[in-house]
Amino acid sequence: MEQFDGLTPAQMVDRVSTQLGCPPTSAQVAEYLDKQDPLRPLRREFHLPRVFELPTSDLSVADGSADCIYLVGNSLGLQPRLAQHYLKEELDKWAKTGVHGHTEGSRPWAWAENNIEQMMADLVGAKLEEVALMNGLTVNLHLLLLSFYKPTATRHKILLEAKAFPSDHYAVESQIRLRGLNPEESMLLVSPRPETLRTEDILDMIEKEGQSIAVVMFSGVQYYTGQLFNMAAITEAGHKKGCYVGFDCAHAAGNAVLQLHDWDVDFACWCSYKYINSGAGGLAGAFIHEKHRDTIKPALTGWWGHDLKTRFQMNNVMELQPGVSGFRLSNQPILLVCPLQASLEIFHKVGMAALRKKSVLLTGYLEYLILHYYSQDPSQPQKPYVIIITPTDPQQRGCQLSLCFSLPIRRVFQELEKRGVACDMREPSVLRVAPVPLYNSFTDVHRFIETLGAALKASCS
Ligand SMILES: *Cc1c(COP(=O)(O)O)cnc(C)c1O
Repeated sequence: MEQFDGLTPAQMVDRVSTQLGCPPTSAQVAEYLDKQDPLRPLRREFHLPRVFELPTSDLSVADGSADCIYLVGNSLGLQPRLAQHYLKEELDKWAKTGVHGHTEGSRPWAWAENNIEQMMADLVGAKLEEVALMNGLTVNLHLLLLSFYKPTATRHKILLEAKAFPSDHYAVESQIRLRGLNPEESMLLVSPRPETLRTEDILDMIEKEGQSIAVVMFSGVQYYTGQLFNMAAITEAGHKKGCYVGFDCAHAAGNAVLQLHDWDVDFACWCSYKYINSGAGGLAGAFIHEKHRDTIKPALTGWWGHDLKTRFQMNNVMELQPGVSGFRLSNQPILLVCPLQASLEIFHKVGMAALRKKSVLLTGYLEYLILHYYSQDPSQPQKPYVIIITPTDPQQRGCQLSLCFSLPIRRVFQELEKRGVACDMREPSVLRVAPVPLYNSFTDVHRFIETLGAALKASCS
């Protein structure tokens, strides 16, 4: 898509429509953009459900044989085709060799996760030694906080977003209680104005309260608004005040370009089933910056934190691996490693930079069409309109747009589902729509906009 370098998505759409001699809203524009898209073949590496396969579709209003319009990779990524193949290899190995599978084959179970950690490290901008694949996201957040949150009488607070994802909120709350402290005093929340958080508000809060903050704990991309935080600036501000700074990258990993090492982030965790397509409950990630490798120790230990070379001597004298590797507790679930490997290999092949480049155009195209059809028009007060909560600046968002409608959204959402759209609704009036550059096309975005028109019409009748 080099011909569009330096253009905003809106300029790109206008240029293509002029070139083709069709309106900017024409499906031809989307088809043209898909033809120019060098990443288009990646779609075939995933299982894309067809409309009739979705339990919510209604074949009296939709063509069942069409691909569904899958815009919910922010919640659960699609299945990479190779996942089943890799799983079958390990199930066969188990069937045929039993316990020998621990050390045999291309994916010896006893260190299977180590084979894919480099690819994960690349994806989040970390060094190999800084990343561990293990557990679930909330578990990793707890393990990290157990070591990084060391409250003292004067420095006892954890700073986080007022509307953090519930699991993060609960994790922080319970960590504070675990230390015998009161969340009302030790949990410091920054509120959005009105929908998204301003970087200056976050930095001001750190500047003002920094002396009493032990840990600054933010999401990388906010799950509800899609806002991408300036992680480098937040980290720097936190460090200036002597705080540890950690990020939950659940909605950022595989979505935004991350540089956890270079940004000097102290710790991070993320799940792999959203943009990283590893399947529900997939193996999660944890990051600890290498500068802490000899100083930050796990509060809880298990045999998987023991040095691999002597782990199986079973002499009960711990030789703890340095850094995040020492935080490993249990042997790895090989059945979770398989689908994650299938997905990471695709990321490895394309690289985040190319994905991000397409993502900016794809989401910009969605924004263009939403603004075109659903900007508020004072001369037509009855007409439904949409306010995009997500920041307009591509530097401050990933692929997701959060659309706030001027009417209750439940009926519209149901009509969308009948027509083969998979996206996410937050009542009363927000749709979260995430075109994922790995497998979504410009045509998906165009079909979504057309279907949204039909759904609004059907739900208002
Ligand atoms: C998805 C998500 C979670 C989910 O946590 P699990 O432990 O994987 O169930 C937690 N926090 C954030 C910010 C999320 O986006």
